[in-house]
Amino acid sequence: MKYRAVKGTRDLLPPESERFAAAEGIAREVFSSYGYGEVRTPVLEATELFARSVGETTDIVHKEMYTFPDRKGRSLTMRPENTAGVVRALIEKGLQDMPRPIRLWYCGEQFRYEQPQKGRYREFRQIGAELLGIPGPEADAELLLMLFDFLRRLGFADLSVTLNCVPSRDGRQRFAEAVRAHVSPQADRLGTDDRRRLEENPLRLFDSKDAQTRGILEGAPTSPEFLDDSARAHYERLKQLLSIMKIPFTENPSLVRGLDYYTVTVFEVVSRGLGAQDAVLGGGRYDNLIGDLGGPDMPAIGFAIGEDRLLDVAPADPRPLREVFFVVPFSKEQLAYALEVARRIRRHDPAAVVDTDLSGRGFKKGFARAAQVLEDSSGPYPFRVSEVRVISLGPEEEARGTLKIKALSTRVEESVNLSSFERGPGR
Ligand code: ATP
Ligand code: MG
Repeated sequence: MKYRAVKGTRDLLPPESERFAAAEGIAREVFSSYGYGEVRTPVLEATELFARSVGETTDIVHKEMYTFPDRKGRSLTMRPENTAGVVRALIEKGLQDMPRPIRLWYCGEQFRYEQPQKGRYREFRQIGAELLGIPGPEADAELLLMLFDFLRRLGFADLSVTLNCVPSRDGRQRFAEAVRAHVSPQADRLGTDDRRRLEENPLRLFDSKDAQTRGILEGAPTSPEFLDDSARAHYERLKQLLSIMKIPFTENPSLVRGLDYYTVTVFEVVSRGLGAQDAVLGGGRYDNLIGDLGGPDMPAIGFAIGEDRLLDVAPADPRPLREVFFVVPFSKEQLAYALEVARRIRRHDPAAVVDTDLSGRGFKKGFARAAQVLEDSSGPYPFRVSEVRVISLGPEEEARGTLKIKALSTRVEESVNLSSFERGPGR
């Protein structure tokens, strides 16, 4: 083998690629029903954008970014997340004059230089949403409701969101100092990365996956102790709203999340199917980010779902069930007729999927392939196969203009006139 996919990247082929497309289709349906429109931003952004938004001292910016100079020496980065790009795009288009709220969703590839392992890649996909312009907890509640609608549509039954409220500005500073004071006496037990975090940004210690560090953090001060009155009221009201809407949640006062821009509400959803500390999704408020990036002062909240991880743990294949027509000519003699029959069926029902056996190798091989499609559902189709209707075309059928149609799972066979597949409406 000469050429291989770059380490940490992977190819998605059917049916896997179709599962991704189906999940994205469900996202589009659910998010559209909440009034969201899709946003697509470039993979490449100026490096500075991520340094300013995600934060210089986060793992992402510090050691995970794909950053390189272009031919003119500008520093570019392949996006490690999508919120910064969306905010940049909106500011560039004139965010201050847009009617509020702004509801946008996206899906696309993200890039982080990490050690590849199960559920962790260097190129991965995120599905996310951003709600801009509403400061109140009702925005948080609506966003979480939408998120749960989406997860339920994918078949998740007993998920619960882990919730916390993090202080901003002054409170954040005091919180960081308190954590530093708690950890400093045991600094020599920290690894190099965590010692750097302690120096530069102690709150990032909460992202550490080092068991030793996590031990030291037990009993450390937690964010709720540093909230101001308005953040506290916001958080209390959000919890009430979630209870009213029957969205299950648990509180985790040391949940901080790995991006510096989060303020007030933060949340994640962890699935038991993944490694103990691997979240399927994360999100939160970013009330200061838009202003920090040069836009108007505007509150916002969003989430990002790791699509690869989501599909790893999804309880069901997200593709819908549908039936396929399988047109099998008796020999090469009937190939032209097979093409015509397939076309008639598609014209009659534009949504029908008609797979024609172009090999002309006869009924036996054709039926065998059809049976295989029904059995393992691993065809290239954007749906799972509920039934295969085999249409076998011999010289007699061609002469008489009839079709023998056999439903493979029920074994019911019928004979119909080709003329019964009339042109459908609009064709
Ligand atoms: P982790 O703690 O697992 O590194 P994170 O905090 O870095 O996750 P976020 O930046 O919040 O993750 O991104 C949101 C989601 O994107 C994650 O919950 C996860 O599902 C997904 N994700 C993040 N990094 C990767 C990766 N390298 N490979 C696959 N999915 C990822
Ligand atoms: Mg990470």
